[in-house]
Amino acid sequence: MTALFGTERRGAERPAPLVDPFGRTIRYLRVSVTDRCDFRCHYCMSEDMTFLPKRDVLSLEELDRLCSAFVGLGTRKIRLTGGEPLVRKGVMTLIASLARHLESGALDELTLTTNGSQLAHRARELADLGIRRINVSLDTLDADKFRKITRWGEIGPVLAGLDAALAAGLDVKINTVAVKGFNDGEIDDLLRFAHGRGMAMTLIETMPLGEVGGERADQYLPLSKVRADLETRWTLADLDVSSGGPARYVRVAETGGRLGFITPMTHNFCESCNRVRLTCTGTLYMCLGQDDSTDLRKVLREKPESDGAIETAIREAVARKPKGHDFVIDRTVGDGVLHRHMNTTGG
Ligand code: SAM
Ligand code: SF4
Repeated sequence: MTALFGTERRGAERPAPLVDPFGRTIRYLRVSVTDRCDFRCHYCMSEDMTFLPKRDVLSLEELDRLCSAFVGLGTRKIRLTGGEPLVRKGVMTLIASLARHLESGALDELTLTTNGSQLAHRARELADLGIRRINVSLDTLDADKFRKITRWGEIGPVLAGLDAALAAGLDVKINTVAVKGFNDGEIDDLLRFAHGRGMAMTLIETMPLGEVGGERADQYLPLSKVRADLETRWTLADLDVSSGGPARYVRVAETGGRLGFITPMTHNFCESCNRVRLTCTGTLYMCLGQDDSTDLRKVLREKPESDGAIETAIREAVARKPKGHDFVIDRTVGDGVLHRHMNTTGG
């Protein structure tokens, strides 16, 4: 693969890995390649979103440059997300370029989280470029409910996209946000659907990111409750796998499939956090749940030739990675809302 942007670290010396003040080595970068999306999921965006002007958004070359800087500093896994990563113009060129780090062995995994709307015509190419696994978000199997939660999305292309991904040999995980009063009665069907097709499934608690209209507390469904309910019908055996992330996994005896629970609200997963997040404007967030950030775009645009300046800025940022987040959803103390939307930070 060819690099979009020519500068790579030369010479044999390996830089020290990124280690934060709590001894956690940062090996995982999540990159929001766009804030735009073809859907407007209720828990993620408001209906009348104002998207970023183009000049504020990193070019594909700039995204490549920053991702490659992280790879040079020991990042082993990159997940592209958004907004919807597959609606970013030229995203396949970026993926093709980043795939050189898979070929060189510098990167273990390049993956993405997608709403699936573009997968039907992208899955094969993604697999050909070296993508092995993807996460696809799906909160319901009902076409009307799908239209409702996404505000106008159609489920047909997403289901066709899942078929295409499986046919291309991609390992697919379904991400389902648990929304009170919306899909709490549908988890069994989603589980059968996913596991019946050999896909793992992960349930996600709603997180208080950004004003989305409506009451956040009304959407919040604790997964402890969902799990207790599932256990009245399914046999769930804890699995001792850790992704270094917030998911805890079980094996469902009846299906043989894997089910994950991402519980930022009820389980503190921060102690094993190995990740940082880069937005499409080049803002680096050290924690999904905290506002502290570093403006890497500024460094990149002020000193475009300097790998050293980018490296220093990344190291300084990681040195400030907080111990953990403090999300709260509680009507009595306001919404506990961070004023970023999930599409800005990347889920
Ligand atoms: N558009 C892609 C998608 O939907 O998969 C990628 C970006 S989306 C922000 C990434 C993940 O975040 C999705 O699985 C989505 O369901 C989840 N998400 C969005 N807003 C959320 C919220 N407030 N709480 C929990 N999960 C959320
Ligand atoms: Fe778009 Fe994904 Fe957010 Fe839904 S969750 S609005 S698909 S970015």
